[in-house]
Amino acid sequence: MDVVKVWSGLTFGDRFVPVEIQITYGAGLPAFHMVGMVSESVEESKERVRYALKSVGKSIPQGRVMVAFLPSEVTKSGAHFDLALLHGFLKGNSERLIVGEVALDGTVRATVQSLRVIAAAYNSGTKKFICPRLPESVLKLMPDGDFFMVEHVSQLLSGETSTAVEDEGGTECQGRIGLNDVKGSGIKRVAMIAAAGWHHVLLMGNPGVGKSMVAERMVGIMPSMSNSEKLDLLASTGTLPDHRPARFTSWNSTPAGFFGSAKGTPGEVTFAHRGVLIMDEFPQYRKDILEGLRTVLDCRAVLASYGSQRLTWPADFLLVATSNPCPCGYLGHPKKVCKDSPTSVMRYLGRLSGPVADRIDMHYWVKADEPNEDVKAVEERVCNVWELQKSRWESEGFIHAGHIPGERVDELVEVGSSVRKLLDDSVEKAGLSRRERHKILRLSRTIADLEGAHDIGINHLIEAISYRQVIPWLRSLVP
Ligand SMILES: [Zn+2]
Repeated sequence: MDVVKVWSGLTFGDRFVPVEIQITYGAGLPAFHMVGMVSESVEESKERVRYALKSVGKSIPQGRVMVAFLPSEVTKSGAHFDLALLHGFLKGNSERLIVGEVALDGTVRATVQSLRVIAAAYNSGTKKFICPRLPESVLKLMPDGDFFMVEHVSQLLSGETSTAVEDEGGTECQGRIGLNDVKGSGIKRVAMIAAAGWHHVLLMGNPGVGKSMVAERMVGIMPSMSNSEKLDLLASTGTLPDHRPARFTSWNSTPAGFFGSAKGTPGEVTFAHRGVLIMDEFPQYRKDILEGLRTVLDCRAVLASYGSQRLTWPADFLLVATSNPCPCGYLGHPKKVCKDSPTSVMRYLGRLSGPVADRIDMHYWVKADEPNEDVKAVEERVCNVWELQKSRWESEGFIHAGHIPGERVDELVEVGSSVRKLLDDSVEKAGLSRRERHKILRLSRTIADLEGAHDIGINHLIEAISYRQVIPWLRSLVP
């Protein structure tokens, strides 16, 4: 029995799973069967394939046609298997990875799923593809790739490849907004430190002081995305933004929208990978989201299981949370008075000192009337700290101070004896946890790096400690 073999693939989280497609023909009444856990979207490809074949004057051979998708224990879904099937019918075997959706008239299209499969396959070592026309910006990420691109099924027969789709104008700098229009030198400094060392930050303040505006601008002061960061984002989300992502989430998000679903849809935390995730009104989020976020922050990924398979979504984002100080918003306001009961304020603040908030390195009180001064050369300084911290720690498996694992902070962040004494005294006096002590050390390292200082000084430490004082201060205002 002759068996035609072509191969395509699917993604599982950010992982590529090769799928072999076998086609056999037999005598008997005309029938077209597909086996191997194919979902409805793959079943539908029978019709697309039938019509697309007609567009080049061909048809499915008479008799019984059997198509098997292997491995059979994984569910296949998506329209991107069409092109591989057509190749099997028109040309027979191929060693290239084939992906692409085909329309009834034979035109070949790139779907989000095809882009994800191509990027994930390239990441895992596949270099030869038959696929739809890809944009230049996507091809640039895969310099070793050998792409036979087709716009129409007829090109499978003629062997004529298409050129890349030209990118539309967009440049790296478009849409990148720096901190220029942010008022207040303190908040600008906080944004710079957070972006420089990848330190999660909680911005607190009364309503209308511009907490979320700053959050959005933080991606604008970070270095541009590297090709490998872009490829990871493409493999997991199928999107390729011009600059680092800044994703706004809302407190009424669902866990599936926030973390992604095991069935294959990435969540906000993955769309924000290597960019900023903004959580407005942080204490209002559902308890299950805040609980789940804890593990995501520790692993810098979403770990899920689907059937017997383990699934990983990358989620290495910088968290920028914003919050009012109390339910009415006016605790700590210079003129207005907070109308909440002490119990409700304490309960509200309690939500900001739970296990998730405990993973946030910097707390900052945003004032409406902060003195405004330009912080010089912000982007350049952030970029220098990235380079420096990367060269210092890359061999340890991470690149930012904010990524230093808790158990290694004391070993990797060295401090002199006078700084250590001040740190120990402050920790004891304020009753800070071990985790908080680690945060102060990581932050001190970044603050020293921003100044180009080799050793962490007393002034760096004092500034780092100041970013742990907002919540105790707010508590002290409650009668
Ligand atoms: Zn209040």
